Amino acid sequence: MDLPKAGKTWDEVRDTLIARGEGDAKWRDGKTAVYIFNAGPELAEVQRDAYALYMSENGLGPLAFPSLAQMEQEVIQMALSILHGPAGAAGAMTSGGTDSITMAMKAARDFARAGKGLSAPANIVIPQSAHPAFDKAAHLMDIEVRRIPLRRDGSYEADPAAMGDACDARTMMMVGSAPNFPHGIIDPIEALGEVAASRDIWLHTDACVGGYFAPFARMNGVPVPPFDFEVPAVRSISADLHKYGYAAKGASTVLFRSKELYQHMPFANREWSGAPMSTPTLAGTRPGGAISAAWAVMQVLGVDGYREKQDLVCETRERAEVGLRKLGYEVLGNPLLGLIAFRHPQHDNFAIYGEMFRKGWFTSITTEPPSLHLMLSPKHAEVIDDYLEDLRCSTDTVAAGQQGAKVEARYN
Ligand SMILES: *Cc1c(COP(=O)(O)O)cnc(C)c1O
Repeated sequence: MDLPKAGKTWDEVRDTLIARGEGDAKWRDGKTAVYIFNAGPELAEVQRDAYALYMSENGLGPLAFPSLAQMEQEVIQMALSILHGPAGAAGAMTSGGTDSITMAMKAARDFARAGKGLSAPANIVIPQSAHPAFDKAAHLMDIEVRRIPLRRDGSYEADPAAMGDACDARTMMMVGSAPNFPHGIIDPIEALGEVAASRDIWLHTDACVGGYFAPFARMNGVPVPPFDFEVPAVRSISADLHKYGYAAKGASTVLFRSKELYQHMPFANREWSGAPMSTPTLAGTRPGGAISAAWAVMQVLGVDGYREKQDLVCETRERAEVGLRKLGYEVLGNPLLGLIAFRHPQHDNFAIYGEMFRKGWFTSITTEPPSLHLMLSPKHAEVIDDYLEDLRCSTDTVAAGQQGAKVEARYN
């Protein structure tokens, strides 16, 4: 497309935008269980209106926009208040989980350089189930990634002893997930903490998808093991607001146990022709709307609102588990939050995925082992029975060898 010479009317352009979305995954009716966190139209309105109020303002300028600076600080305080942040803990908002992970690794690297005199190359030791954002950040910073197989006991948890064995004097970070994305399982962060503490290694909890879920699930009585700053060895946490925080996209938090650790994250520069510039995270310009929308959603929901939403998600996951087992599926490990992976022991799980895709379900897969995957939202309470019914049909189709062409599940 060339840039149109004469501009069009907004009405015309708006119609085009709406028409363009018609071919997209049908997430508003609950048929998508990846990418989207659907907490209903009321919260969507809060996101949209709060975003619009500050969409032109720039978080790069806290002196110009003390409103945004205060909102960001309050988002961090609210985050720390539910994640056992000790006095003196600190953090910042970022554009997403990848950004938060990158910045935690940057801080850990510079901390290791300052303290241990560790110059590149360094390494990180992470479970096989950890998110690829760690590899991306490591690639950017020339850091070696040591992915360690999970325990072989069917728990799909990280293996703390094996991870400890993989550490050496150049290890600048160990990682556990709460939960991991592929299986939805919370790693044994306390045991990882013991290994990390005995070796004086920075432990990062990747709570990108669970940071704003697990604390509320625990308040609701779910036996969530300690995963946050409650574990003394945890030095940093990534927790995404644009996932189960139900904020508009472009909002995550990266949190540090102390200001001393945090101080290795910001970047200040005076060596150029312009005004001195200091930025806490990777971004220069920081969209004000992402900050105001996250702040507003947290204020509107409060502890009670989050508890209610996450309870509904847990209940839906439990209903899914019962239905899946009835259909002969095996749930991987013991998921406690909103993510679940499951496989049929006799059939080609990716063929079943293809049949579900043809029925309009857009979900993810897990490859180790080949499984289907759901990331549930409050909206799914309304459609989980339909999903299970379609899964029953799809399983029968594949069992009868009548499946259609293969559908490749990928992220992009
Ligand atoms: C989503 C996710 C990430 C990455 O977050 P983005 O916002 O997609 O960059 C990292 N870790 C886990 C466990 C996640 O679920």
